[in-house]
Amino acid sequence: MNTAEKYLYFFGIAQDGKNLTEGDASLKNLLGGKGANLAEMAKLNVPVPPGFTLSTQACTYFNDHKKQFPESLRADVASAIEKLEAILDKKFSSEKNPLLLSVRSGARVSMPGMMDTVLNLGLNETTVQGLAEASRNERFAYDSYRRFIQMYSNVVLGLHTSLFETFLEEEKHDQGVDFDSELSVPSLKELIRKFKSVVLQETGERFPEDPLEQLWGAIQAVFESWNTSRAQHYRKMNSIPGEWGTAVNVQAMVFGNMGEDSATGVAFTRNPSTGEKYFYGEFLANAQGEDVVSGIRTPLPLLKSPESAGKSLEESMPTLFKELDAVRKKLEEHYRDMQDIEFTIEKEKLFFLQTRTGKRTAQAAVRIAREMVEENLIAKKEAVLRIDPYSLDQLLHPRLNPNHGFTPIAKGLPASPGAVTGKIVFQSQDAVNLKNASQKVILVRHETSPEDIQGMDAADGILTALGGMTSHAAVVARGMGKSCISGCSALRIDYQEKILKVVTAQNEELLFKEHDVMTIDANTGELYSGELPTLTSRLDDNFNQIMSWANEYRKLGVRANADTAHDAKTARDFGAEGIGLCRTEHMFFAPERIDAVREMILAINHEDRSLALEKILPMQKKDFVELFEVMSGLPVTIRLLDPPLHEFLPHADKDIEELSKKIGVSFEGLKKRVENLKEINPMLGHRGCRLGITFPEIYDMQAMAIAEAMVASSSSGHADAQVEVMIPLIFGKKELEILKARVKRIVDGTLEQAQKKIEYSIGTMIEIPRAAVTADEVAEVADFFSFGTNDLTQMSMGLSRDDSSRFLPEYIDRGIVEKDPFASIDQVGVGELVRIAIEKGRSQKKNLKAGVCGEHGGDPDSIDFFHKVGLDYVSCSPFRVPTALLAASQAALKEVE
Ligand code: ADP
Ligand code: MG
Ligand code: MG
Repeated sequence: MNTAEKYLYFFGIAQDGKNLTEGDASLKNLLGGKGANLAEMAKLNVPVPPGFTLSTQACTYFNDHKKQFPESLRADVASAIEKLEAILDKKFSSEKNPLLLSVRSGARVSMPGMMDTVLNLGLNETTVQGLAEASRNERFAYDSYRRFIQMYSNVVLGLHTSLFETFLEEEKHDQGVDFDSELSVPSLKELIRKFKSVVLQETGERFPEDPLEQLWGAIQAVFESWNTSRAQHYRKMNSIPGEWGTAVNVQAMVFGNMGEDSATGVAFTRNPSTGEKYFYGEFLANAQGEDVVSGIRTPLPLLKSPESAGKSLEESMPTLFKELDAVRKKLEEHYRDMQDIEFTIEKEKLFFLQTRTGKRTAQAAVRIAREMVEENLIAKKEAVLRIDPYSLDQLLHPRLNPNHGFTPIAKGLPASPGAVTGKIVFQSQDAVNLKNASQKVILVRHETSPEDIQGMDAADGILTALGGMTSHAAVVARGMGKSCISGCSALRIDYQEKILKVVTAQNEELLFKEHDVMTIDANTGELYSGELPTLTSRLDDNFNQIMSWANEYRKLGVRANADTAHDAKTARDFGAEGIGLCRTEHMFFAPERIDAVREMILAINHEDRSLALEKILPMQKKDFVELFEVMSGLPVTIRLLDPPLHEFLPHADKDIEELSKKIGVSFEGLKKRVENLKEINPMLGHRGCRLGITFPEIYDMQAMAIAEAMVASSSSGHADAQVEVMIPLIFGKKELEILKARVKRIVDGTLEQAQKKIEYSIGTMIEIPRAAVTADEVAEVADFFSFGTNDLTQMSMGLSRDDSSRFLPEYIDRGIVEKDPFASIDQVGVGELVRIAIEKGRSQKKNLKAGVCGEHGGDPDSIDFFHKVGLDYVSCSPFRVPTALLAASQAALKEVE
């Protein structure tokens, strides 16, 4: 058969026991994640309701052909339905024992809640009676019908759910019941009538009675849902290409809502928040489909737990629990990874509706990977590759200082870790607005839904009143690495008035208005009023173990960008192997120094300038001594002064006047001097080595401070730091030649005088395209290269780092650039300059050391690229060092594979 034309894949087991399943887990691109795993489970003889998958190619065909289905599809679907009828002894559209279907979407990667599912498809005024008779449960039949109309109208016909919810709430209120499951048959029939009239009113057409028409409508809706704005937003946030398309899974229904011997639930084979190895999940008796996820009723745990109010599945259905637990083991061993499972129990019979690799926090990922190596389930390499380096900053998420002494006002579920203080808002749009105003935001909701994605993205923390650990809010927050507390039942939210009441354990009612400050500790689930002190987390044993495995494969060095001994210490604790960039100008800004720096800048002659610099020298020297001590035995790259001088000067008249008094110069004179130094385009102006060339005393002083610090610390008993002096912003060999000679004379002179023999080197930054393309000449003089990829990006692409935010987002939206080139290096353009410069540099000097010190040094994709082009190291901010170490190891591992 020509597979290019095969759009339908069946899964299930025939009555004679023959396994009819056509696909398997390897066909994810074609069947989507859900379809591929349904097929895989069916192949493994895990009980899965039979069904079939329409491939992503059918979706692509549909979207490319003005919403036409491939020609063969109708016949294929008809014969697949016949197969289902034969397996189940039911008939689609039949008034006796009707076959009902679920229609579910599933792309290659899971997109939680993005695509919509329709359940109970095939019901109409006659089949519902058939269902009632066959199940001998009229209430169940009409409840299913009611749900079907509601879902279908929303997903397929595009009507807002609130149109139906209002009637549902009214009916419950009139009947004096709390839950949908308590509504009587006459109530349900009444609701169905009302629902249908809503459909007629809103769409001008009757709700479709023909099951086949329902089916094709639903299939079409799934294909179309690929392009809804929230699906597009999710794809953009997760870099999922729009061409992939989604598959559609059409599957026989099983019913968790047939009574108290029926249930539906979701489970993780290990705890997705901590990684702990135990069966972790929730279920609801007498419930269907999304009741668990939507957080309408609070579900019960699978395992017996002292904290739970209701009976666990282990207690209420022990035999089924054992079966479930056996499949948990089977699936985990088969997939060799933590699984996220959906199951339904229909009259004490267990079915699996989904399995997929479970989303987890970074902390859980690290623990699971380590333990799976120890359980001999996976190899060390695999463990290292499984940790997403982008997620590691989650491990550094803040937590509350354990001795804070405050009393929580309420407690919910610790759904996604971290502690956050922020202003509360109740609507996603308000979260976005507040975030745009650079405020920390906590989004407070009854529950969240896919419509809230933007708001959740903008929020620092998420707090919900309803829902379990597997609710939408919990799952999405974990995926985003946001702190989240879910199911905090003490919350009373009034969306209209924008107020929140919290009922404390003492039954006090506390009132919060929008923008009031709260703190959530999502590590424990506790909620506090006001701001609490937080601590950054420590990396744990599991992490250290994974990192030590990772380091076995790593080739690229990782250093840190640090200007102070304090930052350097943090970086070294995180595993940095030196300093790749120490920006000396930061040492000039301290209040007790800035005046001396200003005096130096404003001096009109050489002598005055030297006098001022003499005051600064001992301060610089002290900074370096401290830095060398922390970095004992490791390389330290010191960049000589880079920014334009006017950055150090005051600009407001008031400040100029103050300074004029301090240094005894007239206000007018000073103001003139300040204006003289002003540049129209300072980033391309008088800065970097250009200062070194025209005001040589500045670099002389810095060279002297470095040399004296080398002498001082070499007598301190610590191993010497390996000093690398770096000249910024050259566009060719000449500038470096001049400045290197000058620095060398001073450093060598100082060392000689002190009778010290200490190795050091003098190199340069490559950050102007001309320097990159003349790198062979530059390498004649340079001992090393360090790519300043921020400036290199700015100058290669002609993008101002300070102004490009006005249009860059639109460039990214429209796919003109794939990612922000300042965050992740533009590999084909700017990256090519890096590659050329290394090649040229090393053609001149074979072992020329080369590193990166721009922001890209901490970006995993960029690191992968830097590994490939043969850099020796990357350097990044201290908190990104763990990420960089892991990314560098993965780059080496991927290369081998
Ligand atoms: P999502 O991707 O949002 O999880 P699913 O396709 O998994 O969507 O379906 C949503 C819910 O519908 C699930 O919780 C599942 O339990 C239920 N469901 C799907 N198919 C069936 C079926 N064949 N029988 C019973 N319930 C189903
Ligand atoms: Mg699902
Ligand atoms: Mg620069």
